[in-house]
Amino acid sequence: MGVWRQVGELLVPRACAGCQAPGQVLCAACREHLRTPPHRVTRRTLLDPPIFALGPYSEIRRNLIIQMKEYHNQAVRPYAGAVIAAGLEQLVAQGVLPPRLVVVPAPTRASSARARGGDPVLHMCQHAARLLGDGLPLTVVNCARLRRGVADQSRLNADLRWANMRDAVAVDADPRLVGRATVVVDDVVTTGATLINTADKLRAAGALVRAGLVLADA
Ligand SMILES: [Zn+2]
Repeated sequence: MGVWRQVGELLVPRACAGCQAPGQVLCAACREHLRTPPHRVTRRTLLDPPIFALGPYSEIRRNLIIQMKEYHNQAVRPYAGAVIAAGLEQLVAQGVLPPRLVVVPAPTRASSARARGGDPVLHMCQHAARLLGDGLPLTVVNCARLRRGVADQSRLNADLRWANMRDAVAVDADPRLVGRATVVVDDVVTTGATLINTADKLRAAGALVRAGLVLADA
């Protein structure tokens, strides 16, 4: 796959973000691990739009996401972008998604995004758009945000996450959304509350939300 060849050229010596092996940003074994095709995420309630994950929340995916979010690992973000790019290519090839897409990064709390050296999910989407280029043109619209004072999701159980997220997500009106096939992208799905609530707000803003796509299904 083309995007994977391009990513292979970005290697810089350091410890692997997936397994800590020395020498590469992401070692060959971990890159292979991340190459799985998207699968549809199932939860007790029907998820609308459907959410697709590029694999389970394995130790390698977990490490990769923590490296991006907690350790400000900028070098690994293009690899995560390539994984998202490959997933979008496959969903388009399967006819799940049309070939011209708006991509909306799922919202991150502004304070944590700053602490992380810029929003890793936004960067992941931007890298994906760059890699896919004209072959699968992505319009990245960073219009979803969390309102101030939202409790940290990681400290809440499933029911509270839904209640917390319902009013927490805000989408800024953007003419690029209106009538356009749209995908919401995030690093990991747990309950689906963030993605589904973001999709609802995007639909209210005129977007045709077709799917969610995440690196890992927790
Ligand atoms: Zn590795």
